[in-house]
Amino acid sequence: MKRAICLIIVFLLLSGCAAKDTTFNHTFFCMDTMMDFRIWGSDSTDAANEMADMLEAMEEDWSASSDTSLLAALNDGTADLTEEQEALIARVEALSQRTGGAFDPRLYAVTELWGFPTDDFRIPSQEEIDAALLEQRWDLGAALKGYAGERCIQIMEQYDVERALLDLGGNIQTYGSKPDGSPWNIGIRSPFDSGTIGTISITGTMSIVTSGDYQRYFELDGQRYYHILDPKTGRPADSGLSSVTVICEDGLTADVLSTALFVMGLEEGTAFYQESDDFEAVFILTTGEVYATEGLTLTGCTFQVIPHEN
Ligand code: ADP
Ligand code: MG
Repeated sequence: MKRAICLIIVFLLLSGCAAKDTTFNHTFFCMDTMMDFRIWGSDSTDAANEMADMLEAMEEDWSASSDTSLLAALNDGTADLTEEQEALIARVEALSQRTGGAFDPRLYAVTELWGFPTDDFRIPSQEEIDAALLEQRWDLGAALKGYAGERCIQIMEQYDVERALLDLGGNIQTYGSKPDGSPWNIGIRSPFDSGTIGTISITGTMSIVTSGDYQRYFELDGQRYYHILDPKTGRPADSGLSSVTVICEDGLTADVLSTALFVMGLEEGTAFYQESDDFEAVFILTTGEVYATEGLTLTGCTFQVIPHEN
């Protein structure tokens, strides 16, 4: 009898869980990358579908390679932007200024010259680079996935979604908290192999974005040329870093700053961190050394702490 009651309780618990804790996994290709969504909550499927539609529309609007996108119209000075789109551009401009131009949203002609959008790689001459820098053509490639993470949160807030772990092609967006209050554990990829160098613990809704020299590159005569460019030179940023991960509540800021800090390097990036109070970061040097800002919980590797006070 006791055993039967136990079995009934177990059954009720399991069926109760299944009804309440509906998980939905969705893997799809968008914005030139694989996206992988894990969503918990009774509306998880509907929310995932709306997010996928939104991402597709966003990709179309802000495509740098299309002649008919909104971004193309922005380059021509003929764009008719909605209030939301205007706000995005204004935020991007303000963030670019905040980084002292290390993040430059108008490098598309230079990026194209190196062949990164089409995998048609080549090393351009200095004259070609100088001319392309003057073109000032828009490219939101270093910011859009972070912004997309923010928009995903706005969508999930309108549905019965308890929590979510969204991987937008290496940009991680957490949403909500686990029922037992335990943190999200996010692995930081090693730039040197396919493993992870450590794990950071994240509580609640947060954006975790990495820019690295291993994400898109080509090699020639033993030299690696990667897709993050120093706007001052128009060449791959040679800052001594292999990757930077930024953790920030604001998705767009996280994405912009991961690119900008990669361009700045450890020293300038440390000074930038000490002047700021809205993000944490992990810097991985080309030597393999790891530096993490003091507000982070990083485990699984040895690292030096970057204090917030100088
Ligand atoms: P990913 O998009 O691969 O995750 P990033 O967010 O760092 O990595 O964005 C890199 C892309 O941003 C490049 O492919 C290029 O289109 C553009 N880009 C390159 N250098 C810069 C820069 N200094 N500022 C802004 N955008 C850049
Ligand atoms: Mg970025």
